[in-house]
Amino acid sequence: MERLKKILNRIDNKGYKAYKDLQGETFHFPDFDLIFYYVQGDPFAGPSQIAVKVDQKRAQFPQATFSPFIRNIGLNDYLTRIIHQQIRKICRGNRGTGKSGLIAVDNPGQEVLERSSVRVTENMVEARLFIGLPARGRRVLGRQAEEMLIDEIPRLVQASLFFPSLQRNPLIQHLQVVEDQEVMRSQLREKGLIAFIANNSILPRRSGVDQRPLPAREAVPFQSPSSLEVELEAPHAGTIKGMGIPTGINLIVGGGYHGKSTLLRALERSVYNHIPGDGRERVVASPTALKIRAEDGRRVEKVNITPFINNLPYGQDTGNFCSEEASGSTSQAANILEGLEAGAEVLLMDEDTSATNFMIRDMRMQQLVAKNKEPITPFIDKVGHLYTDRKVSTILVIGGSGDYFDVADTVIMMDEYQARDVSREARNIASDYQTLRQKEGGEKFGDVLQRKPQPQSLNPRKGKKVKIKSRADEAIQFGRENINLHNVEQIVDPSQTRAIGDLIFYALREKIIDGEKTIDQILSIIEERLQKEGVEIASPFKNQPQGNYARPRSLEIAAALNRLRTLQVKT
Ligand code: ADP
Ligand code: MG
Repeated sequence: MERLKKILNRIDNKGYKAYKDLQGETFHFPDFDLIFYYVQGDPFAGPSQIAVKVDQKRAQFPQATFSPFIRNIGLNDYLTRIIHQQIRKICRGNRGTGKSGLIAVDNPGQEVLERSSVRVTENMVEARLFIGLPARGRRVLGRQAEEMLIDEIPRLVQASLFFPSLQRNPLIQHLQVVEDQEVMRSQLREKGLIAFIANNSILPRRSGVDQRPLPAREAVPFQSPSSLEVELEAPHAGTIKGMGIPTGINLIVGGGYHGKSTLLRALERSVYNHIPGDGRERVVASPTALKIRAEDGRRVEKVNITPFINNLPYGQDTGNFCSEEASGSTSQAANILEGLEAGAEVLLMDEDTSATNFMIRDMRMQQLVAKNKEPITPFIDKVGHLYTDRKVSTILVIGGSGDYFDVADTVIMMDEYQARDVSREARNIASDYQTLRQKEGGEKFGDVLQRKPQPQSLNPRKGKKVKIKSRADEAIQFGRENINLHNVEQIVDPSQTRAIGDLIFYALREKIIDGEKTIDQILSIIEERLQKEGVEIASPFKNQPQGNYARPRSLEIAAALNRLRTLQVKT
């Protein structure tokens, strides 16, 4: 610490570059080590990255707070949030030009994700922070730096990384709620379920841009219809009752504005765990449930979409379908086939974001437009084969077409935000009123082809330099290209986007993408490494861990790869 003071003293008022002397250095403070992984070159540039490392003998986190691994994820998340709060209390903020005085940590939302911001092991606790080393103009402000590093940072560490200084109950609750969700999700399969919504869950959010729950007095809590009520066992909360959504074909029907999409959106996000108080902390969906939507304008590279699309005008190939600008229906078909290729076992779809002609083709239209003039086999004719041929279940929000009653196993009606089981009524209506539409599209789902991405088609460089950045508008800059992820709705955190960009680069560097491996092989190798070494492997810099990664699912890594406009594959 004294040595750091001396350096700051020496470089005071020098040019900003003098701060670079700190890069790679470790300083021993009485209670922790302060490590400078990266020092910014300019007060306006991306902030410097530091870590504080506390010996576990001092930090004193009991083993049971970070083991088994799911608690480790919960604890890291919790500590990240505490650091965030404490920064607000302790740190002064602006201390000069540009980012001078900034102290920041990654900023989790409603989901609890595996992150690189905090690491807890048997031996130590490490937190990765971003700081703006202070300057006036481009001159080092040594005194201000000293206040930040020698006063604020130790107080921050003291308040957030020592177990005895933390409130015990909220911490324990956080870990238990996270662990309960993980265990409940793991019970779905053996119970023949693809999703579960506990009674009293709060599903609606404050707004489209605010994921916090609607305040309790405005929200109707979820209640399962008795015919769909099941029990899951949570290790801490005990037996939990709620609605089980079974494997097979599930419809969510109901009048407009009665809460259908809200239910589906809760399921989309419940592939992840939620924080206590979120309202969805006892909602769990199959970990490979994938939201499917129309996405016109996206590029598609050699996807076999023949299960849904055939006989395009001018003989365009749908077995190796390519498009620089797919239509609503072809993009939705490609999203499904790519999802199956990457391992999705449940498809989630909402009529609000689907192409109508992809979903349905009714009797009258079949009469007017002959089958050989209509390339699309609508989803209604394939959803059954998806389940019987491939064991892929579906949850579909559809208020506009009762033709689906013919193929549904379970029909849930949202009625003034209350769920009702109307499966029997729907079946009766289907037999009383025949649709008279012809079944199309044959007796099999069709093939899902595995493609082999070609490494030379992925160029992370812009000019000579590697340039991979996640951008605020839900895109990744990858070399000269922008990967638009706006419609990949299960990316829930900018730190996931960042990790995805760097993981694709990782897969290239490590020759996992080698031109011979298929997408599912590539994904399972990445998955295995993430499992073993953590999301840190994404860092492109040796010995310079990044504190702002959150782990994405394989499905979203694949989604990004598929949206890279230069991607080329062998089939
Ligand atoms: P639908 O898809 O059936 O048209 P939405 O799910 O979009 O309906 O919901 C319509 C509105 O009702 C939204 O503003 C939503 O926030 C609100 N809402 C949904 N579920 C509930 C609920 N359980 N309690 C209170 N408001 C809700
Ligand atoms: Mg809706």
